[in-house]
Amino acid sequence: MKVLKFGGTSVGSAKNINKVMAILSDMSANDKVIAVVSAIGGITDKLLAAAELAVNKDDSYKKAFKTIEDIHSNIIDALILNEHKTEVSKAVGTKLSRLEHLLDGLFLVNELSPKATDKLLSFGELLSSYIITEALKSKGLKANLKNSQELIVTDNTHTNASVNFKITNANIESHFKGDKNKITILPGFISKSLDGEITTLGRGGSDYTAAIVAAALEVEELQIWTDVSGMFTTNPKVVKQAFPIKRLSYQEAVELSHFGAKVLYPPTVQPVLDKNIPIIIKNTLAPEDEGTSITGESTNGTGLAVKGISNINEIALLTLQGNGMVGIPGFSKRLFETLAQEKINIVLITQASSEHSICIGISEKDAESARAVIDLTFENEISLHKIDPIIVENDLAIIAVVGDNMKNHQGISGKMFSSLGKNNVNIRAIAQGASERNISAVIAAKDVKKALNTLHERFFETRTRQLNLFITGVGNVGERLIEQIRQQQDYLKDNLKLNIRIIGLSNSRTMVFNDEGISLDSWKEQLANGVKAAPKDFLDTVKSFNLRNSVFMDITANKDISDLYQDYLRKNIAVIACNKIACSSNYENYKQLKRLSYKYNASFLFETNVGAGLPVIDTLSNLIASGDEIQSIKAVLSGSLNYVFNNFDDSKRFHDVVKQAQDEGYTEPDPRIDLSGVDVARKILILARESGTEMNLEDITNTSFLTKSNLESESVDHFYESLIADEGHFQELIASAKAKHCKLKYVAEFNDGKASVGLKEIPEGHPFYNLEGKDNIVMFYTQRYPEQPMIIIGAGAGADVTASGLFADIIRLGNV
Ligand code: ADP
Ligand code: ASP
Ligand code: MG
Repeated sequence: MKVLKFGGTSVGSAKNINKVMAILSDMSANDKVIAVVSAIGGITDKLLAAAELAVNKDDSYKKAFKTIEDIHSNIIDALILNEHKTEVSKAVGTKLSRLEHLLDGLFLVNELSPKATDKLLSFGELLSSYIITEALKSKGLKANLKNSQELIVTDNTHTNASVNFKITNANIESHFKGDKNKITILPGFISKSLDGEITTLGRGGSDYTAAIVAAALEVEELQIWTDVSGMFTTNPKVVKQAFPIKRLSYQEAVELSHFGAKVLYPPTVQPVLDKNIPIIIKNTLAPEDEGTSITGESTNGTGLAVKGISNINEIALLTLQGNGMVGIPGFSKRLFETLAQEKINIVLITQASSEHSICIGISEKDAESARAVIDLTFENEISLHKIDPIIVENDLAIIAVVGDNMKNHQGISGKMFSSLGKNNVNIRAIAQGASERNISAVIAAKDVKKALNTLHERFFETRTRQLNLFITGVGNVGERLIEQIRQQQDYLKDNLKLNIRIIGLSNSRTMVFNDEGISLDSWKEQLANGVKAAPKDFLDTVKSFNLRNSVFMDITANKDISDLYQDYLRKNIAVIACNKIACSSNYENYKQLKRLSYKYNASFLFETNVGAGLPVIDTLSNLIASGDEIQSIKAVLSGSLNYVFNNFDDSKRFHDVVKQAQDEGYTEPDPRIDLSGVDVARKILILARESGTEMNLEDITNTSFLTKSNLESESVDHFYESLIADEGHFQELIASAKAKHCKLKYVAEFNDGKASVGLKEIPEGHPFYNLEGKDNIVMFYTQRYPEQPMIIIGAGAGADVTASGLFADIIRLGNV
């Protein structure tokens, strides 16, 4: 004999009920089956919502009732043979009109007591069990309906009654003793008190009904048929990567369900555990899936240490503290007694070893009544200032990591708390049971999704790390970067175990977000159809997503955007900047960004600020980190100026060469920034700072090769006009160099704590002389490289190489 329980979704539509009937038909071919059914999915909530409207004198409760009526009659229409339809509709109609009367009554009396709630909610299971029994008959299967209220007897605690097992077990045994029916249908969740009042077993209680019956009859198996393929490593609705756990011990299942794994109502395990009956969790929508088997076998010594992670939302934390508590027994007893008298359930307890405070986690809905009764109990001590009035904190949640085998593994809590810490999830309280089967932590409700995903990644997906990118600026470079990510996504997953997703994109006009990852095949259209862009709104949206491993990428040259880096870092969001403004802004701001990056454990990377994709800053940091000291730096750092002077000769106009450089994307959007030397000055400034020198842009000697009128031009157009007017000046520069067999290079130097930039005539044989096209070169003279410098050379401008420099920063983050 087996007991099968079918949940709300399983009986939520005619299509699903057909699946249930197929399962029952198969199973009853060679076994006796008892099927416990929930109310049709969502009806319990709809009943409550209708009642709420009625007691609030809102007559739209009638509409809500009509919806409930329609749902049932649609199912009857689809599943009951024509010849029985009238009879079944009539019987259902009678029940529904009683429900309607009850709602009318609530509208009049204006109050919903726990007793009336039970009466109201019982309609859900009474209706579904009747309809399913009749549907089975229409299919030609013999099924007998038995009202569980005649079997399960409870106390009078309405909405969450306690079962009287002695009477209940006797009732169940005597009913099924001589029973010959192959299939019995029982409504779940509902029961009666000794004095005949309707009671219920608590929300989700159909699982419990099934367990009570299974235990009373000592059946061979209890099957819980639901809408997911077993108990998952964590809630699959919150963590996409969650997967079904094949085997669990009873204790593990208790812990996971007690701490929020809704798939199993917590009290369900106890009755079957006592009789050592296995529980199998199966998916009605995918019956071929293996599901989860829960048995008395402990997983000790084998398998993964952490089996699952669960969460309870809407938790309040109560803290009772005061000097008068230290060393004096009885405080906890009085606290717990007070809560027990109020029937307030305690979910978590921690006490500091100083005994100066006790912290308890309870359901948020009980918080205010708990405050009132506790303050009353300790009124005397509070007035004598021995203890403080109770402190109540709301908007919290509990997350719990569970596994029988955790006690044999060191460092689980270390891993748990360090990965939460790295992701800026603040922990308010911690509890670990002596069995070490469960470590739980109280966190802010807003962090639950992030925490579950972080812990799941840490304990179950150790091999893949997910990075969530938010990119601002999708011009030349941004577009190439997205294309490179699109091409490399699979390679990175397979080879570097990095899952890179772009969650947000913005240009100066629009922005778009998708927390599942923006499809990189159609990002342009999605962005074009996005909402109006604003840097601050982008920041707020990134913050509100609150995703782990979030990365903000600035691929603009915009100061307003770089002004927000501090806000990103403070939220533990890494910043990758292509934009040089922040790192070359005043020293205090640069230093502050470094400090915040350290404090909030959020990387701040800007490799592309110098030499585009060349590993200049990374090399420099590695030299410093390994104890080397920079003595001097000599470099050609402007790809654009190099391009300009490599292409300029007496056969061309200077103006045309600059224009061409801009058209090919080798200059900043405003070419004056390159030509004036400001861009190079910013770069040598960043290298000087990264070498450990406190320096500002004004400290750099910039000898410009431009004329006064070039430098004073008010706009880019004027600037170009002034280049034409001053063509003679540029021809003189090139003629002078040529006469000395030199080439013109724009050189940056850092020496002895001082930096300078300017155009230089470079003689043949010098390492700079043969620098091609838009190449950059950086020579580091250090303590370890005093004469033969460490040289980095290669293309220092261009969209593709800059994009790959940004990509390298992303990979660096993935390796953190
Ligand atoms: P039923 O109506 O069948 O009783 P429930 O809604 O009570 O179903 O329970 C199934 C739901 O539990 C799943 O759809 C899922 O959203 C939620 N759930 C939460 N945690 C877990 C978990 N660890 N494993 C599986 N499901 C979970
Ligand atoms: N129908 C009840 C509820 O929604 C019982 C159950 O589904 O198990 O809580
Ligand atoms: Mg359930």
